[in-house]
Amino acid sequence: MKWRTYSMKWRTLRVAAVLLLTILLTVGGCGREQELQETPGFTESQTKSESVKETADRTVGETETKKESEKTEEAETETDRETDDQAGRETESQTAATESSQTETVPPSEPETEPPTQPPTQPQTQPPTQPQTQPPTQPQTAPPTQPQTQPPTQPQTAPSVPVSGSRMIAIDPGHQASAWNELEPIGPGASAMKPKTSSGTQGCVTGVAESQLNLTVALKLRDALQARGYQVYMVRTSQDVRLSNKDRADMAYASGAEIFIRIHANGSADPAMNGILTMAPSAGNPYVAHLSASSNALSASIVNHIAANTGQRNIGVLATDDMSGINWSQIPVTIVEMGYMSNPDEDRALNTPSFQDKIVQGICSGVDEYFASH
Ligand SMILES: [Zn+2]
Repeated sequence: MKWRTYSMKWRTLRVAAVLLLTILLTVGGCGREQELQETPGFTESQTKSESVKETADRTVGETETKKESEKTEEAETETDRETDDQAGRETESQTAATESSQTETVPPSEPETEPPTQPPTQPQTQPPTQPQTQPPTQPQTAPPTQPQTQPPTQPQTAPSVPVSGSRMIAIDPGHQASAWNELEPIGPGASAMKPKTSSGTQGCVTGVAESQLNLTVALKLRDALQARGYQVYMVRTSQDVRLSNKDRADMAYASGAEIFIRIHANGSADPAMNGILTMAPSAGNPYVAHLSASSNALSASIVNHIAANTGQRNIGVLATDDMSGINWSQIPVTIVEMGYMSNPDEDRALNTPSFQDKIVQGICSGVDEYFASH
């Protein structure tokens, strides 16, 4: 009896052991582990379900970021509120926490600084998550900027009286008395840097500083636009300021203006070079592509009317994607290069009041034309 009980127990144990082994082999340890190890980015401890959850979390995080980026300046308070709202939800609370800490460090430009943050995400779950994370990340940069700029602009103009008098224009007389050589990124999230404010050119015959000419014409432009019933916001009315190109774009946006006109004069190593041109961001601009069409329309209207008024050579609209004051703008923007101060004739003309008036009236007509269809 004793021996039989013992041998039965032993058999049961052996059967159990064999069963266990079979289960382990079929369900999967080895084969599956290999699979997981071969999949780059996965470690033994990181199971598939975990990674799926992570991806889901990230996607949630991204949609949240999108939502948040739509809420502009109030980002900080908004995020606080949202974090509270989300506290109960399991998956979102984590991302909300990370988001709120991100927002606190870089409040207004959070969605814009997202692209540089991309690299750290990649190595973590590269091949499996790439198709999932990347598509949302890319549209993330463009779409958020659109709602970000448009909604604030529209409500500001819509409720007011629908006549030209209620429309506001921001004018930036380019440069200032002294250059500011500290560097700033040429656009939101850009790694390329440029001086905050360059010194500008100078009249080859008159010796007038470009910053002074720009200010003189810009003040005339303010008066002329106001005479046509527009509201005008001046970024500066004095030479003695210290404003970077980003500052100027920020000020223009904060003013509530619908469009941003930057007044400049050109310079070239070739003294024969002359003519009027305007600049606008290209359709492929990495920062303000959504402002390209409107900015080009504005630029074209202005350059054509100036050329018609002054008889200058019409160089047309130049596409530019490396101008900080354009790339940081949140409203349709143009740079007016009124002529070449390196050309003796044009320098003299640019510093003549009657010629300045023709330029100013040309800009005003261009603005009228633009607003007729925008
Ligand atoms: Zn300039």
